[in-house]
Amino acid sequence: MPRDFLKDARPEYDVVVIGSGLAGLTTANILARQGYQVLLLEHHYQLGGMATWFKRSRGHIFDISLHGFPAGMIKSCRKYWTQEIADSIVPLTGIRFENPQFSLRTTFTREDFTRILVEKFQIAPSVVHEFFDTARGMNFFDDQVRTTRQLFDQFFPGRDDVVRMLMEPITYANGSTLEDPAITYGIVFSNFMQKGVYTFQGGTDALVGKMKSELIRNGVDLRIRTLVEKIEISPDRKVQAVVVNGRRIACRAVVSNSNIKSTILQLAGQENFDQDFVERTRAIRLNNSSCQVYIALRPGEGFDEDAGDLLFHSEHSGFDIEAMLSRNVSSRTFSFYYPRTRPGSNRWLIVSSTNANYSDWASLNESEYSEAKADLIRSTLDCLERYVPDVRARLDHVEAATPRTFEHYTRHLAGASFGTKFEGLQVSRDLPQQVGGLFHAGSVGIIMSGWLGAVNYGVIVSNDADKYLSPSAAVL
Ligand SMILES: Cc1cc2nc3c(=O)[nH]c(=O)nc-3n(C[C@H](O)[C@H](O)[C@H](O)COP(=O)(O)OP(=O)(O)OC[C@H]3O[C@@H](n4cnc5c(N)ncnc54)[C@H](O)[C@@H]3O)c2cc1C
Repeated sequence: MPRDFLKDARPEYDVVVIGSGLAGLTTANILARQGYQVLLLEHHYQLGGMATWFKRSRGHIFDISLHGFPAGMIKSCRKYWTQEIADSIVPLTGIRFENPQFSLRTTFTREDFTRILVEKFQIAPSVVHEFFDTARGMNFFDDQVRTTRQLFDQFFPGRDDVVRMLMEPITYANGSTLEDPAITYGIVFSNFMQKGVYTFQGGTDALVGKMKSELIRNGVDLRIRTLVEKIEISPDRKVQAVVVNGRRIACRAVVSNSNIKSTILQLAGQENFDQDFVERTRAIRLNNSSCQVYIALRPGEGFDEDAGDLLFHSEHSGFDIEAMLSRNVSSRTFSFYYPRTRPGSNRWLIVSSTNANYSDWASLNESEYSEAKADLIRSTLDCLERYVPDVRARLDHVEAATPRTFEHYTRHLAGASFGTKFEGLQVSRDLPQQVGGLFHAGSVGIIMSGWLGAVNYGVIVSNDADKYLSPSAAVL
C-alpha cells in the first residue's frame, strides 16, 4: 500500500496554505497563532521551498539559497517567528569583487560603499549621498516608469564600473536588471546598505527545523509529499476546497505559495477570473533561473579566511546581463562556507551560483544535458583554482544544479529563482478581488523575493487573509 501522506487530515480547515517556501511558512505560522485551523501542503519531501539544503555522503550539507540577506530578517523573525531564530542571524563581512575593472573588498554597508565610491571611483561625496538618499527614499507608491538604468544615468553617467559594483550583487540577489523599475533596485539595495549582509548560523536545515517546531507548537497541520492539483471555486467565485493527492479538503481560504502564474492559470483555472485579469496574468514575465555548483573539500581540509564570504567574480567588462545569464559562463558568485556556518563541523564548502536562462537548458537532450553539467563543473573548478589553490586535489564531492533542477523541486515555471518581474506583484495583490478567499504569498515583483521579501510578503498576506476570515468580516 502506498503511504497516505494525508492520513488523519480533517475534512475541512479554515485555511489551506499551498507550499512551504518562506512566505508560505510565515503565513501559516501567523494564521495559526491567530487561532485559525491551518493545513500546510508541500509537494516536496522537505519544507522550505528554495530555502533548502541537501546532504551527501560523508556528512556534507549544502545550502542552496543561504548566501546573504538584509538585516531586516532579524526583526521579521523575532516578530513573526521566535527570538531563538532571530538570535542565530549573524553578519557576513567578507564581500569581494574580482573583475577586469576592479578588485575590492567591502562590508557592503552604506558607509563602506561611500568610502569606495569617493576614494576609489572618485565620485563627489555630494553625488554619492544624494544617490543613497534617493534610493532609500523610494517606495511602492513612486512612479514606476523610471528604470534602474535611468537612475544610474542620472547619478553616474558613463561609469559602467560604478554601475557594475552597485548592480551586480542585486542582480544575483533577485534577478533584476537595468530595465526593471528603479524602485525595485532602490528598495532592495537600501535594505542591504542599512547594515550589510547577514546569514543564518546553523544552516538552512537548522532554520527550517526551528520553523517546523514552531508551526507544530502553534497547531499547523503540516503535510509533505502532498501535491495540490486544484483549487475548487464556487460559481459565485469563492474558494471552497483544494484537491490534493486525489482527495478533496474543504476550506474557507487558500493562500498559494506556488508561482503566481501557476496559481491562477493552472491550480484555480482561468475560467474563474475576468478575461482582462487572465490577460494580465499571462503577460507577467518570470525572473531568470540559476545554475549552481556545489563543492565540498575533504573533511578537515580548508581554505584561507582571505577567500572571504561572498565573492562576485567576473571575466567580462561592465555590467552585462546577457553575459551574466549565458551558458558560456563568465560571471559567478562564490559563497564560501567555513565550519562556523554549522558550529562544531569540520567542513569547508563552496557554492558557485550563476544566473541562467531556462531555455538554454530545457532544450538539451539527456546526453547534451550531462555534458553541459560536466562542463559547468569543469569551468567552475578552473575558475575557483585562483581563489582556492589545488581545489581539485582536495575535492571530496562536486555536483551541479541547473534551471531544470529548480523547476523540478519547486515547481516554479521555468525554474524561476526569484519569482516574477514587477508586474506580478499587482496581479498577486488583486487576486482576492477576483476570487473571495484566494490569496497569493510568494516571490513576486522583485521586491517581494529573496528570504526577507518572501517572509515580509507572508506577513502582509496573512493580514489580508485574517481580515477575510475573521468573524467580524463575515458580519460585514
Ligand atoms: C540559487 C538561488 C540562490 C538564492 N540565493 C538567495 C540569497 O542568497 N538570499 C536571498 O534572500 N534569497 C535567495 N534566493 C531566493 C530565495 O531563496 C527565494 O526568493 C525564497 O526562498 C522564495 O520563497 P517563496 O516563499 O517565494 O517560496 P518558494 O521557495 O518558491 O517555495 C514555494 C513552495 O511551494 C511548493 N509548491 C508549489 N506548487 C505546489 C503545489 N501545487 N502543491 C504543493 N506544493 C507546491 C514548492 O514545492 C515550494 O516548496 C535564492 C534562490 C535561488 C534559486
